[in-house]
Amino acid sequence: MNWNGLLGGALALALCADAVAAEKADLILTHGRIITMDSKDSVVQAVAVTGGRIIAAGTDRQIRALATKGTQVIDLGGRAATPGLIDPHAHVAEGGTAELYAVVLNDAHSIRDIVGRVGARVKDLKPGEWLTGSGWDEGKLDGKMPSAADLDKVSPDNPVFLLHTTGHYAVVNSAALKLAGITAQTPSPTAGTIDKDAVGQPTGVLREDAAMALVRHLMPELSVEQIEAGILHEFEVLHSEGITAIKDPAIGPRDWEAYRALLAAGSLTERVCVLWAAGATLETARQALAQLDNAPHAPKALGDGRLVSCGAKIFMDGSGGARTAWMSQDWNKGWEGHDEGNHGYPTTDPETYRTMARMFHEKGYQIGTHAIGDKAVDWVVDTYVALEKQDPAKGLRHTIIHANLVTPHALDQMALLQRDWQSGYPEAQAEFLWWIGDNYAGNYGPERAPHVVPLKSFLTRHIEWGGGSDFPVTPVAARYGIWASVERETLKGTYGKQPFGTKEAVDIHAALRSYTSWAAPLLFLENETGSLEKGKRADIAVWDRDPYKVKPEQLKDMKCLMTLLDGEVVYRVEGGPEASRQK
Ligand SMILES: [Zn+2]
Repeated sequence: MNWNGLLGGALALALCADAVAAEKADLILTHGRIITMDSKDSVVQAVAVTGGRIIAAGTDRQIRALATKGTQVIDLGGRAATPGLIDPHAHVAEGGTAELYAVVLNDAHSIRDIVGRVGARVKDLKPGEWLTGSGWDEGKLDGKMPSAADLDKVSPDNPVFLLHTTGHYAVVNSAALKLAGITAQTPSPTAGTIDKDAVGQPTGVLREDAAMALVRHLMPELSVEQIEAGILHEFEVLHSEGITAIKDPAIGPRDWEAYRALLAAGSLTERVCVLWAAGATLETARQALAQLDNAPHAPKALGDGRLVSCGAKIFMDGSGGARTAWMSQDWNKGWEGHDEGNHGYPTTDPETYRTMARMFHEKGYQIGTHAIGDKAVDWVVDTYVALEKQDPAKGLRHTIIHANLVTPHALDQMALLQRDWQSGYPEAQAEFLWWIGDNYAGNYGPERAPHVVPLKSFLTRHIEWGGGSDFPVTPVAARYGIWASVERETLKGTYGKQPFGTKEAVDIHAALRSYTSWAAPLLFLENETGSLEKGKRADIAVWDRDPYKVKPEQLKDMKCLMTLLDGEVVYRVEGGPEASRQK
């Protein structure tokens, strides 16, 4: 692991309690097993905090020596603590508002169930009012897709839009199709698909933004206040899962306004880095660029390390769930079946993508590109290498979001990008394998599935990666992704318990890095968070069990007992550790 090489400056801050003996602590955490995630993967008993930053990590005796009258003491009682976890890919504004204002379908287990939930909500709507929902996944519905006809039964008049859990496709009812003017004669747009049945009628399923946009532009937008409420709602979930920093990818001006308002009100109790949605055209990219130019340039942050305008998000392809991701070979269907002639497609014209990427690179902004299929990943890493060769810029930390199927060529390019330019980091969600893994496995098929989310290949080549949930695609709790990095099981086991195999599994040490010290630089926060060592912020999660000691299958059930941000308690479970004052 070439961590030191990459971020030597930050880690030159050594662990040494004695050297700071003169400093007094505001807060100490003692009697724990504190996993620091420093370069040596040290586990210490105690840490001391002053002004929200760690001033020392070491033994109980060393740290107790820094406490004086009035110092707050948290006795961990032998429990484990980690750095506050980081999710480098969580749509917090979008997912939080969906949980508050839309019908949540993540746990729907049949089409009947979906129709029932929609029907129950439609009753309260005014004539013509929209109903939105999100989170369904046909992998949890015995492989069947809901249709307009299903929804028409309970909502003949109110338009309904139900987004798939991946966010890459949706099902709408006939009222929505009618409002959008979608008929049997409407052709699929470029980079999108209007599904049609055997007699050529639209089924209600719309794949990718280009197709969903035909309906979406008719739907009412959320207000800034609603977005603020959604973010705050999700912050509570994040705190309860020990997560203290997130990257919210693909935001728009209203989301930014909401984050800024929360910061101004003193309510931004997570570190947030945002990527601006750059769309699929030069015009939309220019708009994102203008927004970036209006904010402090990363790594500069607003609000003392709380809010960072990191860069831009571009989509290269579609989804592994909808079989729209851009692949070198045809998709499978139902594991061994063959989806003849379908190897997905780029959702941004590849040459336009290159031009867009250059616009952001030249100005020194981070680019996060969504790339799932092997063709898409190749195109993105080749673009990043070409940009660096033409216009070398160290430290922009361009990322490959998802990086599900990665060729040996792309692995080489990622390693090169990281070594020479601090760029080319995969942000890979192992949690996909579990939560949407049954649908995924069926689409990738037996030959490709073992290579999906290739964490071990990353590790072998010294490629650092960020984990993440892609919430609301999968649940936001990082423990699921940490567990899935190690265990690679699917939710239902439709194609066996481990259709993705274990060859690409990693151990807990690497898995935890991808949610801490490897994730922090992807948010430009490596001097602030991601490890518990001198100079870093006291962003800390306390757990009911020690992730380094429990059996891997237990990682999924870890319970967070307490979360601190800048040394302040932002979450504490009933009966969890308590702070007392030194007398
Ligand atoms: Zn996403």
